[in-house]
Amino acid sequence: MKARYSVIIPMFNEEEVIAHTYDRLKKVMDTCGESYELLFVNDGSRDRTVEIMREITNRDKNVKLIDFSRNFGHQVAITAGMDYSEGQAVVVIDADLQDPPEVILEMIEKWKEGYDVVYAKRLKRHGETLFKKVTAKLFYRLLSSMTSVEIPTDTGDFRLIDRKVCDVLRGLKEKNRYVRGLVSWVGFRQTMVEYVREERFAGETKYPLKKMIRFALDGITSFSHKPLKIASYIGFFLSFASFIYLFLVLFQRLFTSWTVPGWASIVGVNLLFNGIVLMLLGVIGEYIGRIYDESKDRPLYIVRETTGYQDDEEISEA
Ligand code: UDP
Ligand code: MG
Repeated sequence: MKARYSVIIPMFNEEEVIAHTYDRLKKVMDTCGESYELLFVNDGSRDRTVEIMREITNRDKNVKLIDFSRNFGHQVAITAGMDYSEGQAVVVIDADLQDPPEVILEMIEKWKEGYDVVYAKRLKRHGETLFKKVTAKLFYRLLSSMTSVEIPTDTGDFRLIDRKVCDVLRGLKEKNRYVRGLVSWVGFRQTMVEYVREERFAGETKYPLKKMIRFALDGITSFSHKPLKIASYIGFFLSFASFIYLFLVLFQRLFTSWTVPGWASIVGVNLLFNGIVLMLLGVIGEYIGRIYDESKDRPLYIVRETTGYQDDEEISEA
């Protein structure tokens, strides 16, 4: 029989927390009194995460484990979870207990009221660095100023989606995925619950600055062409200004005796303009790189092994 609820938990090097996360999730999901599956996606952890989870999976039939062949990234791990999920409602939650599992029950309430998407808005964030809080705040505001899709600010991937929405998302095949934006983009009846984001239970963030920047660029490039537009505005403005300047130079050369002795200005203007041009090329490059990724059409992820699907054969025979 298919489980009614699927909970997706992406994990990357979470050996210190994962057994606790499982306990808390199990406790919460047991109280709701309906069938559920906990889908743990191991995103190429290099520690003991997968061993711990394999052991748990073998003794609890509600647990399933999808093991990637390497680290493919948080957003891809969530996507894989959606591909494998079978519940009527699908919940995505972080592995580090920053998102309190108890909130899932509130989400289920809303879902039963008839909402298709219930996202969780962070009222406060405990135990995160000032840098993280400030950059996150700026990023969500920047993104919403750049796009016409209404992506709620201060929400992560902690949310519940209905089976319908999950199936639509699975049909979106883009490679550089910004899942929380895609969920907003598809529409349906959406609502939110509020919560206080806890401190990480143990371990440290798996989002170093490099991953954060990539994530932010994926969000912006997936949902906005504004950087390209700004690039072309600056380009237009610069060529207009240089055209005027050219007239000035010609005028000086032909009609005045003030011939240019200074190379400083020439070098200065050159440097400035080359810098700007390279920057604009960089913006365009970000988009072209992503177009290239899409056109290669490689699979989003590679699964090394799945555990907990012992009934599979029976299902395919039936
Ligand atoms: N994660 C993942 N793959 C990655 C990075 C992170 O699956 O490459 C998972 C991680 O295990 C956690 C969730 O994504 O369950 C959020 O990561 P983290 O808590 O480190 O991010 P933060 O809360 O610091 O933004
Ligand atoms: Mg976290």
